[in-house]
Amino acid sequence: MKVLLTGGAGFIGSAVVRHIIGETQASVVNVDKLTYAGNLGSVASVADNARYSFAQVDICNRIELERVFATHQPDVVMHLAAESHVDRSIDGPAAFIETNIVGTYTLLEVARSYWNGLDTARKAAFRFHHISTDEVFGDLHGTDDLFTETTPYAPSSPYSASKASSDHLVRAWHRTYGLPVLVTNCSNNYGPYHFPEKLIPLMILNALAGKPLPVYGKGNQIRDWLYVEDHARALYKVVTEGKVGETYNIGGHNEKQNIEVVHAICELMDELTPMHQRGYPLNTKHSALITYVKDRPGHDLRYAIDASKIERELGWKPQENFDSGLRKTVQWFLANKAWWQAVLDGSYTMERLGQGSSD
Ligand code: NAD
Repeated sequence: MKVLLTGGAGFIGSAVVRHIIGETQASVVNVDKLTYAGNLGSVASVADNARYSFAQVDICNRIELERVFATHQPDVVMHLAAESHVDRSIDGPAAFIETNIVGTYTLLEVARSYWNGLDTARKAAFRFHHISTDEVFGDLHGTDDLFTETTPYAPSSPYSASKASSDHLVRAWHRTYGLPVLVTNCSNNYGPYHFPEKLIPLMILNALAGKPLPVYGKGNQIRDWLYVEDHARALYKVVTEGKVGETYNIGGHNEKQNIEVVHAICELMDELTPMHQRGYPLNTKHSALITYVKDRPGHDLRYAIDASKIERELGWKPQENFDSGLRKTVQWFLANKAWWQAVLDGSYTMERLGQGSSD
């Protein structure tokens, strides 16, 4: 199977690329513009594999996309390229409209024209898998409610509104043109290679540097955390075994308040790299670095996913619980300074690093 995967230099896309090359016989062409969030260091471990190739292409560029489809003749598309950071979408929504809406539209049109030209057998087997977020559903206020595949859309931020638009376009291309699509909506991911503007890596790296750990509002926002490698396995299962036209929610059954997440990171850091071993006074705890900052405008209170459909129909289950996944994540960041140091020192725009994050 030949996979054309967009956004493979990003956090989740790179995990899917590593999964496909490491665990399957499929080949991948990674189509990525390399924005600030794209880092080829995240796929360095598979870069020399004959089944992997890279094309630096903007998904809004129809001509370039047509060239990649013609050259690589994919059997399936996995679409992960996006502008993905809520805070950036509040400061500057234009790039979110461009990539997430216009880019998805452009990719759909190029895929549709390519799919129409395939022979009958390949046409029937083709899949367009769109990767999206649970943020399209808005937020939950009760403590027991869960997002299901039929929860109505009510996005709150420019980011989630742009992703909601892209989900609607993908479903319309199925209904109107018959393009064989699949959609997945997942909760907050965490794990190795996570860009350090997001909550968990930001807290780990700030804690390591002895900097403040900025927590939005009271830190009582709830997210349902999914270990990125569990997500990568789920996505491959959906694209190979999912039913055309269906949506699958993917979640980790790990609902945590942001402040609980930050305390859990502090405790792991106290255990794995005690502050006194790094020159701080004896008994200094990482939790002393926690600082509450002004809340994000329009901040969603709670997200939580009902993932029973993918578990029941495709037999997928997360392998990591939050404790084991977080421990692996902290250990990975402690052991992979070269990766994150290159991000911090590189040509990246890190102006938000002193501020909060929820995702
Ligand atoms: P990311 O920001 O880490 O990576 C996005 C990648 O897309 C980067 O490599 C970037 O260079 C590339 N890209 C951006 N604009 C592009 C364009 N115009 N053309 C080609 N490439 C472009 O994002 P992520 O966290 O890996 O998220 C991947 C997908 O999963 C996104 O669609 C996101 O909406 C969705 N998602 C993410 C999360 C999460 O917790 N990270 C949760 C739910 C859904």
